[in-house]
Amino acid sequence: MRRLVKTPRLIAAAAREVRRADRGGTLLATFYQLLGAVAALGVVAAGKLTFDALLTPDHAAVGLTPALLLLALATAVSGSVGPLQTQQHRILGERVSQRVWDRLLDTTARADLVTYESTGFATALERVRQHALTRPFAVTAALLGLTGSLLGVTAMSVVLLAVEPLLLPLLLAAGIPAVLLARWASRTEFAFAHRLTALFRRRHYLQELLTQRPYAAEVRAFDATGPLRARHDALNADVNAALSKQVRRRQLIAALTTLGVATALTGALLAIVQLVQTGRIDLAEAGAAAIAVRLLSGQLGTLFGAIGGLLESAPFLADLERFVASGPEAGPRGHKHDLVDRVSLRGARFSYPGLERPAVDGVDLEIRAGEVVALVGENGSGKTTLAKIVAGLYEPDDGVRRWDGTAMPAPDVRASVTVIFQDFVRYQMTVRDNIVISGDGVDPEAAARSAGLLPTVRGLPDGMDTMLGRDLDEGVDLSGGQWQRVALARALHRDTPLIVLDEPAAALDPRAEHELFTNVRATLGGRAALLISHRFSSTRMADRIYVMDAGRVVECGTHDELMAAAGQYAELYRLQSAAYR
Ligand code: ADP
Repeated sequence: MRRLVKTPRLIAAAAREVRRADRGGTLLATFYQLLGAVAALGVVAAGKLTFDALLTPDHAAVGLTPALLLLALATAVSGSVGPLQTQQHRILGERVSQRVWDRLLDTTARADLVTYESTGFATALERVRQHALTRPFAVTAALLGLTGSLLGVTAMSVVLLAVEPLLLPLLLAAGIPAVLLARWASRTEFAFAHRLTALFRRRHYLQELLTQRPYAAEVRAFDATGPLRARHDALNADVNAALSKQVRRRQLIAALTTLGVATALTGALLAIVQLVQTGRIDLAEAGAAAIAVRLLSGQLGTLFGAIGGLLESAPFLADLERFVASGPEAGPRGHKHDLVDRVSLRGARFSYPGLERPAVDGVDLEIRAGEVVALVGENGSGKTTLAKIVAGLYEPDDGVRRWDGTAMPAPDVRASVTVIFQDFVRYQMTVRDNIVISGDGVDPEAAARSAGLLPTVRGLPDGMDTMLGRDLDEGVDLSGGQWQRVALARALHRDTPLIVLDEPAAALDPRAEHELFTNVRATLGGRAALLISHRFSSTRMADRIYVMDAGRVVECGTHDELMAAAGQYAELYRLQSAAYR
């Protein structure tokens, strides 16, 4: 019942969206609907005139030729409205899709990282992308169809009422089962979409694995094409089974609807024959009535189809509205702050949703202006999570993060800290665009120089304007280490007082890695840095080293202090250097 109450509101909202997307286009489409209704009325009137001219030439209002010409004209207009509308709808559909995408992109841009990483968000986004994007347009098409067919139905009803009032209720009665059937169809369609989204997501992932360049080498090396393909095909089979079932259900509903309309139509035509036989109407009236009945049943078909379309779209629209309304309000843009004294965490605790054990468990940490601080520890010890808290991407569940002694809002922190993740993005754009992705910053050439990227750039065909990557255009692909320098240049370009580098040397060769770490202070040019690494040799030059284990800081100090303390750091350091000897 609540759904029925909400439906008109959702439909009105969708119609408003379409009008906003393309006001002129909506008006034009409405005009075509009106034209269609008027033309249909013209066909009946011309039909009546033609029958009159044929059957009673002496009393006819006009001659046979003008009547036939009028009939031809009305039929032609009535027939061309459809194609005109189809073409107009292509523009309208595109505009509406753009507008809905805008709202969707606004929503995803607002969502913080924690929301984004939750599976509920991803599934809802996918469902909306797959099923709800085209709905506002479907609603408009249905509303336009509804307007046109309502006009048509009214016009034909007037004609029929004039000829024989009894014919009308007979035809209208056919509508009741049609509307009920449409509601049934709507419920099954939404449930179907819900079920299929999960399947589609999994299938899409496998398609990516099987077709995208970044996976090509490993998938071939492991000879995994066959097994992955088998999983893909199994999902296809599931999709096919579900789709067939749904299509059969919809075919049954369509057949029942048509049967209802056809029965009413036949009944009306039989009634006309009966009326002629009993002499209640003459032949010309019967002819006009037959045309009117035929047209009316067509218009009723459109009308019920439109109502069905609206009912079917309602749950998807609700889904879209829920999604757009979800997530936080758009906050103000963050402002970049200088770092005068220090960034600090006190008792920071953070748990990923649904996980019992905190990934970061009561950590104290500080990074003073211009310092290089290292975070070391084994895989899964919480280094990346901690870095995300420092960078304002996650808010600690407990504890505080301070910037020069004040609890700065997360957007300001994000504007003042730059992070290069281990799996940084390789933008399929030019070298220059890869560096200036965040907009304002220092000169990109200077950033490239500091990041040690210039020798690479000099070897590229178009220097800084060379397209990188092979996914979109035929660009140049770089080695892992060269890409890593591009990412470093991007971080330096943004020119924030603190940079977080998560395994910045993972893809560099030993010489380049040694060079990066021995020159890191020059590269950073006075900025503070939080260096994450599990290679202890590369972080020994840090001003302070935090050793993490299971979400906690277990040791802290300079390399020499930690070696002298002979704790976990010293042990792991010796282990690693022994491996090299
Ligand atoms: P490190 O960087 O030291 O390897 P992480 O901070 O990446 O460690 O991970 C710490 C713990 O948090 C691990 O147990 C990891 O499985 C978990 N974790 C990391 N990222 C997520 C995430 N997005 N969702 C859920 N758990 C996560």
